[in-house]
Amino acid sequence: MALRVLVGVKRVIDYAVKIRVRPDNLGVVTEGVKHSMNPFDEIAIEEAMRLKEKKIAKEIIAVSCGPKQSQETIRTALAMGADRGIHVEIAQKDYENLAPLHVAKIFAKLAKDEDINLILLGKQAIDGDNNQTGQMTAALLDWAQGTFASEVTIEGDSMKVLREIDGGLETVHIKLPAVVTADLRLNEPRYATLPSIMKAKKKKIDKKTPADLGIDVTPTIEIVRVEDPPVREAGQKVETVDDMVNKLKEAGVV
Ligand code: AMP
Repeated sequence: MALRVLVGVKRVIDYAVKIRVRPDNLGVVTEGVKHSMNPFDEIAIEEAMRLKEKKIAKEIIAVSCGPKQSQETIRTALAMGADRGIHVEIAQKDYENLAPLHVAKIFAKLAKDEDINLILLGKQAIDGDNNQTGQMTAALLDWAQGTFASEVTIEGDSMKVLREIDGGLETVHIKLPAVVTADLRLNEPRYATLPSIMKAKKKKIDKKTPADLGIDVTPTIEIVRVEDPPVREAGQKVETVDDMVNKLKEAGVV
């Protein structure tokens, strides 16, 4: 079975950046901040590439829903080897309130339009930490799902997926078409080489709007407040065990 694979690649604030809350407490500072592809999505692209190298996948389409700059994320996916891209443009103001259900509806529609039989996503986006898009996409399409995948093997028209669950691994067989979400240990993504970056410049990125796909992205959630985690108070140093016991007594702990 030659697979047509759709991979979701979200542009997020780079994992190494120290996040700053906006003065209005309604979001985080994104301007002038380094962004990258969501790390779990790099793993999803890598897995798609491995399927292509094994001649199991025929075409790999990288999709990003987001503002103009999301095209850079698609280019990265193309440089890693994806065949073409689809950019579903969402204005920055709508992007902040874009919910997993909106993205899932977009993926479900594109899956039908593009005759897709495998959707590979990250297990979660590190900005919103939702961990919902894959599950919702599978539900909308009525497809099987293999979430938190740490190993996938294609077996005819089904897939064996090793899932990372609490305290162990679960093996499931899922029938294709399916949605699979990548966990950290699935693979180690490749770096794009200079020739592949050059080649990626010539690959095609189609541009669409949610309206083109017939999807309403009106926010259903309002962010009420965003706060920094509480600052840890400085500790106290004590010289002896007795001093420590006294301190604990003072604090009413013992
Ligand atoms: P989430 O449910 O938001 O944690 O996201 C799970 C996965 O869905 C991500 O790792 C991406 O693969 C995909 N995804 C979510 N939002 C987007 C987006 N705006 N553009 C592309 N892919 C996305």
